[in-house]
Formats: sequence, structure tokens, C-alpha cells
Amino acid sequence: MQGFCNHRPIGRQEKRTIVDIANPPLCGGCKTFMTNCTFAGINSALREHERFAVLGHVRPDGDALGSQLALALSLKQLGKDVRVWNEDGMLEKYSFLSRAELLTEPPSAPEDVDVAIALDTAIQNRLGTALEAIRSAKIWINIDHHPSNPGYGDLVYVDPTAPATGQILFELIKNQKLPLDGNIAENLYVAICTDTGSFQYPNTTARTFEIAAELVRVGVDVGSVSQQVYENFPRRRVELLRELLRTMRFEGQGRVASFSLSLKTAAELGVIPEDNEGLIDHLRAIRGVIVAVFFEELADGKVRVSMRSKSEKADVCAICQKFGGGGHTLAAGARIRGTLAEVEERVLKAICDVVDCNS
Ligand code: 5GP
Ligand code: MN
Repeated sequence: MQGFCNHRPIGRQEKRTIVDIANPPLCGGCKTFMTNCTFAGINSALREHERFAVLGHVRPDGDALGSQLALALSLKQLGKDVRVWNEDGMLEKYSFLSRAELLTEPPSAPEDVDVAIALDTAIQNRLGTALEAIRSAKIWINIDHHPSNPGYGDLVYVDPTAPATGQILFELIKNQKLPLDGNIAENLYVAICTDTGSFQYPNTTARTFEIAAELVRVGVDVGSVSQQVYENFPRRRVELLRELLRTMRFEGQGRVASFSLSLKTAAELGVIPEDNEGLIDHLRAIRGVIVAVFFEELADGKVRVSMRSKSEKADVCAICQKFGGGGHTLAAGARIRGTLAEVEERVLKAICDVVDCNS
């Protein structure tokens, strides 16, 4: 696979190709391995242009939505013309976010922008219909923390050690003295808090807590945000959990736990996609479980597979990549064609091959 060079000067449009992350290509110009661009480079692109589209991945989570709003609000304070698009629009669950109304579904007719910014999006096609809503962009900026991100775009900043895209944005904003107010802080806090599992996952570092402290100083009301994020679920979500637990099964001497949701059950309960977020954590929380899996039957003949791991040795990103998906070492996903039963069998077998079920 040929590499797309992110050393390219701003504004030079060439055909974009995908980078093989295991095999980083050399820059055609400087002959060094492709590395991240600098915050200063992103800052120049932000300050020198006027029309922006700030995008995030389909089926968004708190990190995608919070990051999108935070960067959009910072750009708006610079006086920029900003669109904030996500294929799924604003989720009911996150509609409490400051200035949530700015984030909309993309328009059906494409619009011209100068700069398109992809946040928290491991591969470009996970931008969904937002990608189609952009007719032209002089520059693509790609800011993300997924290790499977191939480095698409002109200005690429992918930091797989960051626990959330929101954390990278905080560093960018502070480093380049971009606007940061209470509304922006709240969005960044929600992005970081949700993607670290409330500051619990192993990639949560001292720096993450320092950033959280600074965001609280800028004005984040921790109690209020926590109540909105963790104590405000619709009753149907708990009813969904009850049904999922009925399908719970264990493989590999209790090291692999899974449950599944059929279209039929989803329709009976009237659940919406966002109701799923976080339910898999109930499986991961079980003693002895190393890999947790959630199978969700989709209307298009595919099954959405969501995986969580408790051990770096059980790399669920690598497992999902075998099925065309991706994500992080400890949290990944894929969409796989087949019936629920077929996909369950194939995926559980692939996991058991990796997790040492006999030791
Ligand atoms: P979740 O299980 O919460 O949907 O996703 C966990 C992680 O895996 C997220 O970081 C998400 O970006 C990634 N992920 C989920 N589904 C897919 C997929 O179909 N393709 C890719 N490449 N990544 C996915
Ligand atoms: Mn994220």
C-alpha cells in the first residue's frame, strides 16, 4: 500500500491514499518516516482559513461529540464560519452538552469549505454522510487517538497514547493559545471523562488528571456533568440490559463473556442505538473475564460487534481488524456480514484462539 504523505505543504491537493500503519512510508520530499504534524501547523491552518467543517465518527460517543463541539466553539470564538456535522446528529443522551444545538446532521446538498477536520475517526469512511456533504476542502485535518488510524488527510495528528481525542484537543488549544471558555471546557471534560471510563482505563495518566483539574478550574461542574452522563438514562436502557443478560454466555473457562441483541428484541423494546453505549461494561466487570463482546444485529444484514479487553495481551483491535474493523487495544469494533448466530460463532472462535483459554 502506498503512503499518503502528511509532510505535504498545506493546500497542495493530490490523490489521497491510505497508509499502512505497520509499515510507515517514507516522505517523498524529506525521505523521513511520516510523523505527526505539529500543533503549530494545525494552528496556522485554523487561523488562516475561514470556512470549516468539524466532523466526527458515525454512531458517535462522548469523545466524538464533545471534541466536535469543543473545537467548533473555539473556532467560532476566532470568528470563523463553522459547520459541525455528524451523520447521526446530536444524541438525546448528550443533548445537555454546552451549545449542543450547533451539531447537526449533514445537509443533503454538499457545501464548500476551506478546511475539513475529522476528529476521533479511525478511518475516513466512518465519517459517513458527513464526508459526502463536503464538496471541496483545501485541507483535511485528522486528529485522533486510534492506533489503527492510517493517517489520512493533509495535517495528521494521531496520538495513540492519548486516552481521548478531547485530551489532544486540550493540548492543542493550550499550546497554541486557542480560545478556551466554560462551554469548551465542559465539552472537553465530557470527551475525556467518557472515553477514559470515568478516569478508570489504563491509558488515564497523571496528565489526564491535570487536564481535568484545569477544566474544572475553567468552570466545569463535575457533579452536574456526572449526573447528566451517568444518572439520566431512559428506563428502556435498563430494560434492554435485562434482555441482554438473558442471552449472556461464557467461553474459554469464563475468560470470554458475550451477549447479543436481535432486531426483534430491539424493536420490541423500542431501543435506539445510543441505548447500547456502556452496557458491555457489565460483562467486562465480571471477575475472570478478559474479553467482553456485544453482538448487535443490524438491519443491513450485518452484525455490529463491540469488544472490550482487560489485558494488553488480548488485543481486541487486532481481532477486529481481522474482520475489517478497528479501534484500540482494549476497546474495538467491527461490522460483519452474516446472521447473528454465524457471526457469534466466527468471532468467539477468533477470540478464543487469542485468549489463552487453557492457562
Ligand atoms: P464501540 O464498541 O464503543 O462501538 O467502539 C469501540 C472502539 O472501536 C471505538 O474507538 C471505535 O472507534 C472502534 N470501532 C467500533 N466499531 C468499529 C468499526 O466498525 N470499524 C472500525 N474501524 N472501528 C470501530
Ligand atoms: Mn475517542
